[in-house]
Parts: sequence; C-alpha cells; structure tokens
Amino acid sequence: MNGTDACLKCTICVSACPVYRKDTEFPGPKALGPEWERRRAAGDLIVMDHVEDCTFCQLCELACPVGVPIAHLIAEQKDRARLRQPAAIRLRDAILTHPEWVARAPRLSTTPRFVSRMMRLSTTSRRPQPRFSTAVVSPSAREIHGRVGLFVDCFDRGFDQETLSASTALLTAWGFAVSMVPKSSLCCGAAAYASGRVDQAKRQAEAMRAAIIRDLPNEVTALITLNATCDGTMDQEWAKYFGLEPLPIPMMPFHEFAVSHAPKFFWDGLRSNEELKREGRPRVWTHTTCRGQRRGDGGLFALARRAGVSEVIPLDLECCGAAGSYAFKTEHETTAHRMGSAAKDQINHLMGELWVDSGTCAVHLDQILGIPARHPAYWLYQRWHQASALKGIPDKPSIEG
Ligand code: SF4
Ligand code: SF4
Repeated sequence: MNGTDACLKCTICVSACPVYRKDTEFPGPKALGPEWERRRAAGDLIVMDHVEDCTFCQLCELACPVGVPIAHLIAEQKDRARLRQPAAIRLRDAILTHPEWVARAPRLSTTPRFVSRMMRLSTTSRRPQPRFSTAVVSPSAREIHGRVGLFVDCFDRGFDQETLSASTALLTAWGFAVSMVPKSSLCCGAAAYASGRVDQAKRQAEAMRAAIIRDLPNEVTALITLNATCDGTMDQEWAKYFGLEPLPIPMMPFHEFAVSHAPKFFWDGLRSNEELKREGRPRVWTHTTCRGQRRGDGGLFALARRAGVSEVIPLDLECCGAAGSYAFKTEHETTAHRMGSAAKDQINHLMGELWVDSGTCAVHLDQILGIPARHPAYWLYQRWHQASALKGIPDKPSIEG
C-alpha cells in the first residue's frame, strides 16, 4: 500500500480516534497501523491485542497529515487475527459481513436472546426494526428533466424503505424518472473490509459494480446515494484499495442533488406556506457519518438553508458507535454506546431534529440510543407533504404503508 512507511510519529491520528478516547485498553491507530506495519515488514508475524476493537471509521486516515492508510493496515491485521477467533465469532462475522443477506430477511435480524448469547451478539444493542413503506407517486410531474439512478444500499433495502420511498417520491415530484439500482440485494464491500475480510470485500465490490452497470439504463445521468458509507466506499476506496475502475456515471449524495436540481416551486412551496411559518422555522442538528466526513457537511448545510431551516448545528460527535455492525457485537457494545451517548446530552440540551446522511447511523441513534434521527430526504419529504397538503398542491407525492 502506498504511504505505509511515511509515518512521522506525530500522533495526530491517535487524537482523532473515537475508540482510543473511550477504551483505555485500545492501543490506538499509530500502534496498530504504521508501527505494526514496520514489524510486519521486518518479518514479525505478530497480531496485536485489541486490533478487532477498531471500528474502521477511518477518522485516523482523514486526520493523518501524510496519508498513511492506517485503517486499511489495521484491516489487514484483522484478517490475520481472524484465525485465532472462536468459531462462534467467526460464524457471527460471516453473517454480519454479508448485510445483503440480512437485507433480504430483515425480520430475522431480531434473534431470540439465547441465540444472541450463543452467537456473541449484543443483547443491549437493539437490532434495527424495519421501516416498511410503499411510495404512491403521482405520474403528473410538471416537466420531465431526465432519468436518474437511485442507489439502493443493503441497509435501506432491508430496514429503511421509508427513506427510499420518500426519496423516490421527491425525485418524481421534481420531474425525474427514477431507476433503482442494483435490482438485487448486494453489498459494496464496506462491512467485510471493516471486519478484515479483505478478499471477500473485493469480491462483493466487483459484484456490486457489475450489477450497477448492468441495471442502469443508458439514459441515466447521475447515481444518487443515500448512505455516505457506501458512497465513500464506492467513490474513494474501490479504485484505491480494490483496483476497480470508477463507475461510468457520477455519484451524488441525495442532499447535494436536492440543492442543485429541485425546482424553484418546490422550495417556494416549503418556505412560503403560512401554516408552516406559524409553526416556526425548525432547528436541525446534522451528523455526517465517519466516511462522509471526507466530503464534509457543507451539502447538509446547503440543504437546510434552501429548506428554510432557522438554525443548523453540526453535532459534536465523531462516530455514533454503530460503525456498520460494530455495536451489535457483544465485545464492542460498551464502547459503541459510550461513543453514541455523547450526542444525547447535546440534543437534550438544545431541542431540535437530527439529520444523519446514512440510515445505519440514523437507526443506531434513533432506535438504540433514543435520539430522534432521520435521513434528511425523509425529513424533506415530510415537510413537503405537510406543506403541499396544506396548500392542496395536486401532484404531491404521498407515502402509504
Ligand atoms: S497521523 Fe499519520 S504520521 Fe502522524 S502518527 Fe498517525 S500515521 Fe503517523
Ligand atoms: S479506523 Fe477509527 S477506530 Fe480504527 S484506529 Fe482509525 S480512528 Fe480508531
């Protein structure tokens, strides 16, 4: 990997690591990444204790001034650590690193307590409850501006169809035909890489890329994403770590697409509605997922401004603790909850609504930690639905189910 021997020993990565702050036994990214790599290069076959406690959030890499691929080195070390794990953990991780399987039968994610104990699944982290919904979208958009692809990640497919439906309804109301891709449940490889299953992650990524290209109609001009983790994996990691060619069309997070493509009548309808004005302009908090922090939260801020939000406040939270399936593992539940609870005091202190640009993290905050959090697409749909219902706009989208 490029940059593995460039470490300056500055420890900036250690300060950026959310696990290091919450777990006094965790050696930190510098020790687990570049220092381990030096020993490996010298022929030492060591696997360090606590390497599995890294969430693969990549915040250390984001902070490193010289671009050491710290988290990816740690993932390689985890690959070796797997050999010493008990069979129950290997079986559990084999399932959790295939979220595309879980997405096909989301209700099975709630296992009885004795099965959870046997499989070393957390009994204190509630498993996500599927939010089923079917969009009923009026075909009478005022103008058709083109066709877009809506990337269906495995989490949204299995657990947050409300956000998928809301996004489809909004895009249709804005005059875009929507093609959902991929058509079948697949994973971009993020979950497997986070657990150190590097070869499996590459195979999953290759299958996902092939399916996107196969399922995208030719006339599609952009692929819209709802999950910053998948977005970051496909956009930044596929080429760098998996050796894959970039996708032939640009990817864009939903909130950025909304700011640049939603028509004027939509924003005017949201901002000018008298009933909503009387309710007061809402305050929102934002949380960008660990992987999304490379892009920053400028897109969420821009969306808030367009939607007439009175105040937008970034949550002071590096990682919510979900980190894919991290919070669902017995050995990580305490650290995961400690990381996420930092959000609770802030939200309780200054009331508001929380936008999170990934269903995985939103559900962790909402259903496990009790902090009301939704994807901004769902929030925007609700606001629009409320405004259009009040004004009687005839081609409003609606969600049933
Ligand atoms: S931030 Fe980068 S250069 Fe500094 S100690 Fe960590 S890996 Fe080394
Ligand atoms: S990937 Fe995240 S949890 Fe792992 S060492 Fe880096 S900052 Fe810490």
